[in-house]
Amino acid sequence: MVEPKTQDVMERIVSLCKRRGLVFQSSEIYGGINGFWDYGPLGAELKRNVKDYWWRVMARLRDDVVGLEATIIMHPKIWEASGHTTTFADPMVDCLLTQKRYRADQIEPQSGVAFHYAGAEEGAAAAGAKPKSSSEPYSFLTPDAKHVERARQAAKTFYKQRGLADPRLLGERSETVENSTRYNPENGSLLTEPRLFNLMFKTYVGPVESAENVAYLRPETAQAIFAQFKTVAEVSRQRVPFGICQIGKAFRNEINPRNFTFRSREFEQMELEFFIRPDEAVEAIAGSVARPEKPGHPGAPQPNWGWEMWHKYWVEERLAFYEQIGLPRASLVEYWQKPEELAHYARATVDILYKFPFSKRNAKGELAGEELEGVAARSDFDLSQHQRFSGKSMTVFDEELKAAWAKLDEAKKAALTQRYFENRRAYLVKTSVPAEQAERQAHVEAAALANGTYVPHVIEPSAGVDRLALALICNAYTEDEAPDEKGKLEKRVVMRFSPRIAPVKVAIFPLLKNRPELVAKALQVRDLLRPLMTVFYDDGGAIGRRYRRQDEAGTPYGVTIDFDTLGEQGEALKDTVTLRDRDTMKQTRVKISELPALLLEKVR
Ligand code: ATP
Repeated sequence: MVEPKTQDVMERIVSLCKRRGLVFQSSEIYGGINGFWDYGPLGAELKRNVKDYWWRVMARLRDDVVGLEATIIMHPKIWEASGHTTTFADPMVDCLLTQKRYRADQIEPQSGVAFHYAGAEEGAAAAGAKPKSSSEPYSFLTPDAKHVERARQAAKTFYKQRGLADPRLLGERSETVENSTRYNPENGSLLTEPRLFNLMFKTYVGPVESAENVAYLRPETAQAIFAQFKTVAEVSRQRVPFGICQIGKAFRNEINPRNFTFRSREFEQMELEFFIRPDEAVEAIAGSVARPEKPGHPGAPQPNWGWEMWHKYWVEERLAFYEQIGLPRASLVEYWQKPEELAHYARATVDILYKFPFSKRNAKGELAGEELEGVAARSDFDLSQHQRFSGKSMTVFDEELKAAWAKLDEAKKAALTQRYFENRRAYLVKTSVPAEQAERQAHVEAAALANGTYVPHVIEPSAGVDRLALALICNAYTEDEAPDEKGKLEKRVVMRFSPRIAPVKVAIFPLLKNRPELVAKALQVRDLLRPLMTVFYDDGGAIGRRYRRQDEAGTPYGVTIDFDTLGEQGEALKDTVTLRDRDTMKQTRVKISELPALLLEKVR
């Protein structure tokens, strides 16, 4: 299961997804719509199981995290405060020949010989008439100089598109080019200069399509959590450190949706914002701030944890989550963003990557992995921004801090105040508050800290449901061999989903469909299990074929009701069934009355 899968396996996975109704194109009967995907019966169950398990470990099994379900369309000021209106943009380039659009940062660098043209004029102009011309320059990259004709053909097509019927090329010259990203890797044509393209989907609220009614479909679920922070903190009576989590749809008008569902335009996110004390407050309360010293999980949260320990804690919690739903540790990569990759407000970000079959390979030829989730330490940036843009306070009052502060000696008070002041001033200056005003405001805020008041910092584990579902599908896909009815080995496709997230937990098979006693008993077993888990009843075809269908759907258990169940071999076997394990194909005899507890333990 751990061994990396290759690109051709990806094609088989995509075809299985369609054939078995896991995932397929949205609006398929109209030719589909790029970047949008639908989940069929099995896929819908898989996604639901993933979300339910995340919600269980985040919101239900913890005292310090509460849930939120906010709207998709929110006040447009939210996106100004978060920076999305101005900076949530990707650089895009267009092919000058096909007009196809690409993300500039995803163009593979190429080398070769570029042919440049200064322009073109109409070759067959009427006698005496000034020839029609174009002075727009154009270039084309070829592998080597002998492919000049290819460049000329492309250039002629380019100028024909600009209105010349029979272009005569002007000013041809060539140049050797190394590692350039200016040319389309698919056809060699010159690309436009990169332009920024905002990824938010725009709409209008109400009947009038005017500038003041513009709104956006949220590009992430996180901002609602920040905007509602004060309300949720109050109603849930939570004290920092605590978190607010949310699962919901997000929309990004991606320039280049690709790799099946990996980069979609509509997708779901599972996000937690975990609010913590600033390190200065932790130090005032606990005397010092603990820092991660050993690799691995740092254990149960402690009062002396600052942002570094909390960040490490959440990275480890999230890695454990992925293992709990069947992704082996070896299929995951913990990637620490380099300082130059970090957003300006982020102190550290760890991307949790999964080695998808379509991932790029590193220098050693190993799959490098693609992002499933980012775990970011975002300082107090988000709440501070909403405080500034809304004019509403986002501070909390921390009684413990106030009490602890009173007991500090003067030198400690001064040192902590100074550090807090500097951090706040740096934030304000970075967000374009004039220096003098920033200085004044930071002094006020540092004085407030001494009174137990501050804007909480945040650690954000932010995961995508659809990317995770795809990782689970890729990880589960296996081909092996199993004996058919006559004992001959045949190829079998097995989706080795962890029972915890498998779309269907157990299949119920009466041995024969035309024996009412068997069918009646099988339906009884189905009805016994159905309130507890997803059950699939199947009485069609030979039993081997029914097993195979369930293997392909990833159903971990199969229950067969046979004549022994009816008591034909005596009382000892009466009301027992065979329980088949998908992975080992082993069959054990189990009492019907024991099935619910036995299966529940395996699928929870
Ligand atoms: P990428 O760099 O791959 O575009 P990102 O860093 O912009 O991702 P975030 O803004 O951190 O992603 O979003 C958090 C999570 O949401 C991602 O880790 C991913 O699982 C999911 N996600 C983001 N964009 C998409 C998308 N277009 N399609 C599917 N899932 C997505």
